[in-house]
Amino acid sequence: MWPIPNAKFAMTNPSSVIFMSSVAGIDSSKLLPASLREDFPILEQLVHGDHPLVFLDNAASTQRPRQVIDVLRRVYEHDYANVHRGIHTLSERSTEQYEAAREKVRAFIGAEKSLEIVFTSGSTAGINLVARSWGDANIKAGDEILVTTMEHHSNLVPWQQLTERSGAILKHIPITDDGELVLDALDSLLTKRTKLVAVASVSNVLGTINPVREIARRAHAAGAVVLVDAAQSVPHVPTNVRELGADFLAFSGHKMLGPTGIGVLYGREELLDAMPAFLGGGSMINRVWPDRFTPAELPAKFEAGTPPIAPAIALGAAIDYLNLIGLEKIQQHEHELCRYAYERLLEVDGLRILGPPPDRRAGLVSFTLPEPHPHDIAQLLDEEGIAVRAGHHCAWPLHDRLGIPASTRASFYLYNTAAEVDALAECVAKIRDRFRPRGRKRAPKPA
Ligand code: PLP
Repeated sequence: MWPIPNAKFAMTNPSSVIFMSSVAGIDSSKLLPASLREDFPILEQLVHGDHPLVFLDNAASTQRPRQVIDVLRRVYEHDYANVHRGIHTLSERSTEQYEAAREKVRAFIGAEKSLEIVFTSGSTAGINLVARSWGDANIKAGDEILVTTMEHHSNLVPWQQLTERSGAILKHIPITDDGELVLDALDSLLTKRTKLVAVASVSNVLGTINPVREIARRAHAAGAVVLVDAAQSVPHVPTNVRELGADFLAFSGHKMLGPTGIGVLYGREELLDAMPAFLGGGSMINRVWPDRFTPAELPAKFEAGTPPIAPAIALGAAIDYLNLIGLEKIQQHEHELCRYAYERLLEVDGLRILGPPPDRRAGLVSFTLPEPHPHDIAQLLDEEGIAVRAGHHCAWPLHDRLGIPASTRASFYLYNTAAEVDALAECVAKIRDRFRPRGRKRAPKPA
């Protein structure tokens, strides 16, 4: 790690321009009103002295609006008790709200039945549940599991572990240098031994939007089951599991304005029904004897122990908030910010953006500079109040494929503004200038 210079960069003050109605290079009619930031108390703060917080680490975890925080507080102050067990007022209230949240999730992702919605602790837990329960019951030596080169470790390591346990074979759909799947390879990779195709709907590094519907169509034709890691898509784009052709789909509440510790696994009823229980304990049983048990009906069969009750109810409130604004509008807002960020960052000499052009990507931009290292870029940005992420973003094989050890990622959500993109681009340009090797001049701009 190199020493962090003391000098501060002269920055655009985002708070002074947040309420501008138009910013050059951006179509402000496509943006959400900046006034919705007032719903997010955490965004109001200054960091490192007098720098307004510019929060661009949303792909890792988003912030929560008052409406979600208030529901959490209300549950704990008025309605909290364990669910499904107690014959008393608070337990009935908690149970009613917990199940109402499940119904909100069902409608949000277009599932047919709420018993297909299993509350988990997050995307990772949902994918591991499938690997352990469906995987152990269905995958044998010689079977094949197909993933992509761009998977998050959460949708890779559980399958590596399953192949270790079973003797199955893990294969990867390759990517182009632009970070898109080589779909032509799919037909030869899909064989009669392929039992599962597990794919991210949106890459958390490249922003690539994968053609899940097409992949699912071809996978089903080959007789394989399809799992979608939707951690980076459900918060940002309208999702319909049936239209997508997902047999399983996992996502996390904390990436969509909800609390941590709550996530969702959607599974088609027929599949969930046939799967053995995964975790054993309270709530997941129908009857227990000294030497055996019978499992509960869906979805309780997969919700052993006390579930994350208040977080689930608050996830319901997050869904209400997202629905009020509208997923289409959120998607358009993020797309416009991302397009603008892409253009502004590419003005920085030597900067490399990972992944496809803006029209084929979701609202995040990962990049590298010749100098300094991505971690140092993130640290210098933090000194200016700008929160981004740096590292391999839990996608090590993807970084190996791209020939880089790490990258810096800015990821957007509904409360980000064009002025914040300006702040990011200006700060990155100054970092670049500061670390330009002595004697080397800035490359002339293309005519
Ligand atoms: N999948 C993708 C594509 C992600 O981006 C993430 C988190 O960043 C995960 C899975 C894991 O989510 P969680 O840590 O909430 O389980």
